[in-house]
Amino acid sequence: MKLTEVPRRILVIGNGIAGQTACDSLRAAGFDGDLTVVGDEPRAAYSRPALSKTLLVDGGSHELAPPTHEAAEVLGVAAVGLDVESRRVCLDDGSDLPYDGLVIATGSRARRLGGDGSVELTLRTLDDALVLRERLAARPSVVVVGAGPLGMEIASAALSAGCRVTLVADGRPMLSHLGPCLSDAFTAAAVARGLTIVAGAAAGIDTARGLVLRDGSRVEGDVLVSAIGDIPNTGWLATSGLMTGGRLEADSRGRIGPGIVAAGDVAAVPTRTGVRRIPLWSSAIEQAKVAALALLTGDEAPELDFDPYFWTEQFGLNLKATGHLPAAGEPKFLLGDSPHGPSVMRWTHDDGHGVAVAVNHRIPIPRLRRMASAGA
Ligand SMILES: Cc1cc2nc3c(=O)[nH]c(=O)nc-3n(C[C@H](O)[C@H](O)[C@H](O)COP(=O)(O)OP(=O)(O)OC[C@H]3O[C@@H](n4cnc5c(N)ncnc54)[C@H](O)[C@@H]3O)c2cc1C
Repeated sequence: MKLTEVPRRILVIGNGIAGQTACDSLRAAGFDGDLTVVGDEPRAAYSRPALSKTLLVDGGSHELAPPTHEAAEVLGVAAVGLDVESRRVCLDDGSDLPYDGLVIATGSRARRLGGDGSVELTLRTLDDALVLRERLAARPSVVVVGAGPLGMEIASAALSAGCRVTLVADGRPMLSHLGPCLSDAFTAAAVARGLTIVAGAAAGIDTARGLVLRDGSRVEGDVLVSAIGDIPNTGWLATSGLMTGGRLEADSRGRIGPGIVAAGDVAAVPTRTGVRRIPLWSSAIEQAKVAALALLTGDEAPELDFDPYFWTEQFGLNLKATGHLPAAGEPKFLLGDSPHGPSVMRWTHDDGHGVAVAVNHRIPIPRLRRMASAGA
C-alpha cells in the first residue's frame, strides 16, 4: 500500500482490543515508525467478553493471542490531557508524549447506580471479575441490576456458582438488544434454571445490601452487582476541543481531527441509525482497522462498513448473531424449529437487511453471515 504523509510517531491511548487492533493494522499496512501504546491497566490486553463467559463461570482463560505487532508499551499509566496544538498527550505520572498521529481507544467504564464511587460491584475489568468470582464462591444471595446481555450473563454465572439470584429488570430481559422472540426464549431458560426476576427500575442503593426501586420497594442481597450500561472514557479529552455535545464523534473513517482518529467503545460513529456508539467487541475491531488506515492514507482508506456480530452465552443457551439486532416479529427458521435451539433463524428488517441468529448451533460464522445477507 502506498503511504502518503505518513506520521513517524503514532501514539495509541488505550490498551484494549481497539488499541491492539489499531497497532496490528498500522504495522500490517506498512507503518514502520515509532508506535507507542499507553494503557492505564497494568497488564497486557485481555478478552473482556471472556470475563463473564468463562472466567466468572469456571475460571477459564481471558487471554488474547500475543500481539503480532511491535510497539512500545506504557502500562499502568493514564492519559490525563491532550494538547492538540502542540500534539502532546499528558500522562498521570507527570510526563507527556509527543505524536504525529494519535489513536484514541480509551473504551468505556461501568455505569454505577450511585455514580462513580458507589458501593455495588460491577464487571468491566479483569480485577472486577476476580473480585466478583471470589465473592460468588461463598454462595451469597446475589442481586443483579440490569437485564441486558451483561446482567443476564452475570446472573447466569452466579446461578452456576450455586447462588440464589434475583435480577432486577426494568422491562423484559434483553428485549431492546435481541427483540421479543429471543428475549422470551432466554427469559424462559433463565427462569427454568432458577432465576428470580423482579420487574422494576432501580432508584439507588441505601445500604451495602439494599437496593431501592422507584416504586419504593426494596430488594436485598449479600452481593449487589449492577450492569446498567457503560460510560465512555473521555474525561482526559475534556479540554481538548475534540468533544461535540459531550461525545467523541468520528467520521466514517474514524477521524476526529487532523492526525487524530478514534475507535471502539469511546467513539460515536456513523451508523444506519445515526451517529452513535456501538459498544461491542467486533465493532471495536472493525473501527480500529478503518481508523488505523485512515491515519495513514486519509480519504484513500475504506469507510466503516461492516456486518455487526454479537454473541452471548447464558443459562445453557449460546447465541451467535450477524446483522443488526434487535429482531422484530417472528423468525424464519433456516435450521431447526425452536428459538431454544439448536436452530438458525433469520429476520428481515423493513429496509431489506437481514439478521441471522444461531442458538446452540455450531454453524460457522461466515455461513451465518451469508444467511443474514442472502436468506436461506
Ligand atoms: C464482561 C463483559 C462482557 C462483554 N461481552 C461482550 C460480548 O459478548 N460481545 C460483544 O460484542 N461485546 C462484549 N463486551 C463489550 C466489549 O468487551 C467491548 O465492546 C470492547 O472491549 C471495547 O473495546 P475497546 O478497546 O474499545 O475498549 P476497552 O476494552 O474498554 O479498552 C480500553 C482500554 O483503555 C484504558 N483506558 C481508559 N482510559 C484511559 C486513559 N485515560 N489512559 C490510558 N488508558 C485508558 C482502559 O482501562 C482499557 O484498558 C463485553 C464487555 C464486558 C465488560
